[in-house]
Amino acid sequence: MNIPYVDAHVHIYGYSIDTVKRFIRDLEIILLGVAEDLSSSMKVLELSSKVNSLIPAVGIHPWNIKDSSYSELEKVLEIAKSVRILGEIGLDKRFARESIDKQLEFLEKFLSFASENDLRVNLHTLDAWRDVFELLVRYEISGAIFHWYSGPIDLLNEIDAQGYFITINPAVKFQKKHREILKKASIEMILTESDGPYNYKGVNLSPALIPDTVKEIARVKEIEEKEVKKIIYKNFQRYLS
Ligand SMILES: [Zn+2]
Repeated sequence: MNIPYVDAHVHIYGYSIDTVKRFIRDLEIILLGVAEDLSSSMKVLELSSKVNSLIPAVGIHPWNIKDSSYSELEKVLEIAKSVRILGEIGLDKRFARESIDKQLEFLEKFLSFASENDLRVNLHTLDAWRDVFELLVRYEISGAIFHWYSGPIDLLNEIDAQGYFITINPAVKFQKKHREILKKASIEMILTESDGPYNYKGVNLSPALIPDTVKEIARVKEIEEKEVKKIIYKNFQRYLS
């Protein structure tokens, strides 16, 4: 079997089922599909029942928590009984600071659920890097991804020591801070992601950019591309196991 590419954070409900199938077939890629509220969580679940190589996650994005009800949270946790990953969940102190108390309340509910049910988490942690890290440790979360990590360099070692992961996004080619992270992070803690179908600074992020991102990681880390692909796949297996 060929080693597949990995997209460890993609908003898969934003694509048609045909497009999802095409990504998987043409790229030979495993997709971790995150959600951002109840309705997208249900869409991700439905898609994953129809295609192989799509691992579903359910959750409520920090940006949506302000307008989410507690009954929505309960419903997401109800369907979470059928998945292995919660995401996209987390805290955002940069773009959603006004709802931070409610975000924290939701995140603690998610983490305590993940801890009880041995689920992995897929995290948005903008300007709340350390807050989230400390919560993961407190709730004894066994598998975590800090998606599109652009936080403090000194937290990288702690994330790594805890056996957690960060994702590198295609924006690494031009986003200075993220590039710095790639240089400093151990290859053993790195996964790739697209965050598609988000448009970032004119770039249409999508799983189709993952092969090029692997190439870029190989270049910066001075490791052969094939080897990088293999390490990332192994890292992903470790995250899931
Ligand atoms: Zn995202």
